[in-house]
Amino acid sequence: MRVTSLKKKLAVIGAGAGGLAVLQVFSKHLEIFELTCFEQSDKVGGTWNYTEKVGLNDLGRPLHSSMYRNMKTNLPKEVMAFQDYPFPPHLSSFLRHSDVASYLSDYAEFHQLKKYIKFHSFVKSVGKEDDGRIKIVWEVGKSGDEEDIFDYLVICNGHYTTPYTPDLRGLENFKGDVIHSHNYRKPDQYKARSVLVLGAGPSGVDIADDIASVTENTVLLSHRKPNFNPKMRPNISLVSEMTEIIGSNRVQLANGDTYEVDSIVFCTGYRYNFPFLEENVKLRITNERLYPLYKHLVDARNPNIIYLGITKTVLPFPHFHIQASFAAAVFTNQITLPCEDDMLADIENDYKWRTEELGFSEKRAHYLHQLQWAYNDDLCELASIPRLPSSVSNLYLGVHQARTQDLQHYKEKNYRIVDEHTFVEV
Ligand code: FAD
Repeated sequence: MRVTSLKKKLAVIGAGAGGLAVLQVFSKHLEIFELTCFEQSDKVGGTWNYTEKVGLNDLGRPLHSSMYRNMKTNLPKEVMAFQDYPFPPHLSSFLRHSDVASYLSDYAEFHQLKKYIKFHSFVKSVGKEDDGRIKIVWEVGKSGDEEDIFDYLVICNGHYTTPYTPDLRGLENFKGDVIHSHNYRKPDQYKARSVLVLGAGPSGVDIADDIASVTENTVLLSHRKPNFNPKMRPNISLVSEMTEIIGSNRVQLANGDTYEVDSIVFCTGYRYNFPFLEENVKLRITNERLYPLYKHLVDARNPNIIYLGITKTVLPFPHFHIQASFAAAVFTNQITLPCEDDMLADIENDYKWRTEELGFSEKRAHYLHQLQWAYNDDLCELASIPRLPSSVSNLYLGVHQARTQDLQHYKEKNYRIVDEHTFVEV
């Protein structure tokens, strides 16, 4: 006699920090769910698993991690950690990638999450069946495809892997080497070269600093004039408004200045990419806006599919935990979602507010930063879980401030959370 489980089958794609947060939250509801997490690699931790290699992995797929050798976190461990699992006390506040990779592996062990993960399992397709359930096809190593049907899906495939490279006039004539930060690993090859780093976001600024530790001249291009005066290494020239590359190696700026450069590193960000979505569950992606995602999470047309970590400029791990708790509240029916039309109207209102009142471009459809605390509180209230203590937001903002004042040294500081509201520098 065949015994069929009455439990609902929940699939998770990706065992990075996002997927682990989902497994941790749903592992408290095993009376309702049977959990399966698909992870293409042999490890948890996703992008934090540094590799010297670039390009394709042994199976001919793009390497996932975007970490570089000397990378240090731009957030201190006191706020980065999942709220129920601190980083080891002996580590300083700003961490190496290997500390974070070990932390995530320890977190998975501590919560006994690895038993839900199918490693070496690459999801090839996700589609909707006639009854609304979700069919997933995955490839196990090199040994062929498997498939199964699931009731729910949470997608946590990470959003720092598919490079975004804008058009740059004259680039086709440039004779030096050109890479995207996804493929940047270490500065050694830039010794005695003059390098243009394009883009002054967190990675651009960090990578320019890393390269400037070995070169004589690094040019860092910020699209907008920075609204602060970052103290950087003296051999970094911060410039804005580049117009084109002229000839084989010259950068032309709008103010008439030119710089000769040997290499270019594009630190121009990443694109969302869900290559496994079949036509009947595909999201519309325009200018980095994913539509239709209710609360930047729930596919309003297929509400049994949730996308975690779409939001930009957030405090990732605690944020993922809150989003995962909201997902659990939805899939356990603790929360009843509005009907499809009301979710679509809510999405439109949020978008109008961002673009018309806050003046954001479409590219910032999922940008939070200062908005993240109100967003988190809203989800916490709906999911009936405690809010993040204000010491976390205070320290996050304090570090942001320290960074704008002294880019070169802010990671040398150490912090301690004192109580629910307060942190101190130690
Ligand atoms: P990922 O870590 O990318 O994990 C996604 C997982 O999905 C991977 O394991 C991947 O193998 C798997 N996967 C993808 N597609 C498939 C598929 N088809 N089938 C099966 N498996 C699949 N955050 C901070 O908190 N502090 C920092 O200082 C910080 N610095 C950063 C610096 C860099 C250079 C980068 C790139 C990111 C940084 N982040 C930082 C953000 C970081 O991305 C998040 O902290 C977080 O780790 C993202 O987790 P994730 O689970 O969303 O994605």
